[in-house]
Amino acid sequence: MSNRQTRTDVILIGAGIMSATLGTLLKELVPDWEITVFERLANAGEESSNEWNNAGTGHSALCELNYTVEKPDGSIDVSKAVKINEQFQISRQFWSYLVKSNLIRNPQEFIMPLPHLSLVQGEKNVTFLKKRFEALSNNPLFQGMEFSDDPRKLMEWIPLIMKDRKSNEPIAATKIDSGTDVNFGALTRMLFDHLKSKNVDIKFKHHVDDIKRTSDGSWELKVRNLESGAVERHTAKFVFIGGGGGSLPLLQKSGIPEGKHIGGFPVSGLFMVCNNPDVVAQHHAKVYGKAKVGAPPMSVPHLDTRYIDNKKTLLFGPFAGFSPKFLKNGSMFDLLGSVKPDNVLTMLAAGAKNIPLTKYLIQQVMLSKEQRMEELREFIPTARSEDWDIVVAGQRVQVIKDTAAGKGTLQFGTEVISAADGSIAALLGASPGASTAVFVMLEVIKKCFPQHLKAWEPKIKEMIPSYGVSLVENPELLHEIHTSTARTLGLAGEKQYAYA
Ligand SMILES: Cc1cc2nc3c(=O)[nH]c(=O)nc-3n(C[C@H](O)[C@H](O)[C@H](O)COP(=O)(O)OP(=O)(O)OC[C@H]3O[C@@H](n4cnc5c(N)ncnc54)[C@H](O)[C@@H]3O)c2cc1C
Repeated sequence: MSNRQTRTDVILIGAGIMSATLGTLLKELVPDWEITVFERLANAGEESSNEWNNAGTGHSALCELNYTVEKPDGSIDVSKAVKINEQFQISRQFWSYLVKSNLIRNPQEFIMPLPHLSLVQGEKNVTFLKKRFEALSNNPLFQGMEFSDDPRKLMEWIPLIMKDRKSNEPIAATKIDSGTDVNFGALTRMLFDHLKSKNVDIKFKHHVDDIKRTSDGSWELKVRNLESGAVERHTAKFVFIGGGGGSLPLLQKSGIPEGKHIGGFPVSGLFMVCNNPDVVAQHHAKVYGKAKVGAPPMSVPHLDTRYIDNKKTLLFGPFAGFSPKFLKNGSMFDLLGSVKPDNVLTMLAAGAKNIPLTKYLIQQVMLSKEQRMEELREFIPTARSEDWDIVVAGQRVQVIKDTAAGKGTLQFGTEVISAADGSIAALLGASPGASTAVFVMLEVIKKCFPQHLKAWEPKIKEMIPSYGVSLVENPELLHEIHTSTARTLGLAGEKQYAYA
């Protein structure tokens, strides 16, 4: 037991993309605040934010069909797609600001331009896709989207998928070239390097065991140094719980009333990765399909070109599954340990309601490699088993809470939970995730530092010119921002095949 104690302005728990983003924003807004980070692993961006643990899609609703829902009258509700696209524009602006200010360099190491396609089969799905295209294509946020149900055109767009396709079913796709592949792991590491250069104290191999309020309203953390075994006490006026799947247990330990009656439902994931460079070279896009009936939205199958370790790669998945762990490097007792007297009824209600989903996830875990190959062959009819390996992806912990829709309702979004006095905040959930980290961390700032917002607004607007403005309602500003961020981030198209 050590009696090491420190006192800082801000503590960030977890070295993922969320803490990286919040730390970077705060360092720009109030450079003299002292910030300490505690991370249980040896490096930054090793859990969900790691490039191998997520799909790397810059989610802007260009191709994800679950963000546009068909209403009972047959029309398409695009409101969620517009919201997510606007949130991604905020990330693009902040990343551009960091590059322009030389705070991070070489944007091609974390973001690459890549066409985003939605692909469907069957008459009903083709009709849906066409209606979705009509609803989106005149919207300035989705400019440049094309639709085709002509197999010859599709052969040009996605040769690997169309080659040797035997099915006579109608098939159609939309394509938009302004999509991106984002290496969130690389970005997280770059942001932590930057924070280190700004004297942020980053403590790796430090596990936060407990969080308690002190008599003066600050927060005291009990932190275990995993190398020496020493237990330390660290105090801060503001704490952000950015522990990814590990956030819920820490939120529960804080004891704030806003964290009660909330549970977590862990969903694991797998990708298939292509080990044959000839196959990898035949595809250049992210192609999202439609989720199978009964499948959760995070298991929408997609075939993605990825840029990882300075190499073009091809990933298919994710296959969702069930594991009681809350982190990839977590414990088999995580789920059980998160059941508390205040959330037991919420958890039981969720358990009863989601038996089909749990069954589906367990069935998914049991799939053999050959069964997974069969799903891949719906995308690449000629796929050969020997060309593909399986990699384990990150864990997501979906929020369970009591809502107007009933007790124990499973949520698929992200949620910021904060104390009424703004002294502590936690991020729960994992979708749309890393792509919208800047928007979500600005929400944390709004909720937790309302007294500073007025003074901070000019700097926020310098970093994010569209802050507080709807881009869809200001197409000229959108055009200006889209063009300038594309130039700064190298998304204008010139180096599209830089790694090919
Ligand atoms: C399969 C899959 C696919 C995804 N695809 C996409 C995608 O295509 N696009 C997208 O935008 N998002 C995607 N996401 C979501 C995205 O990965 C997450 O939203 C994002 O990475 C979460 O970042 P984070 O910083 O909150 O968590 P993490 O990156 O998980 O970081 C949390 C950190 O906290 C640490 N930690 C936890 N508990 C403690 C503790 N007690 N003490 C100290 N440290 C602790 C962990 O070790 C970890 O390093 C995907 C996620 C998964 C799982």
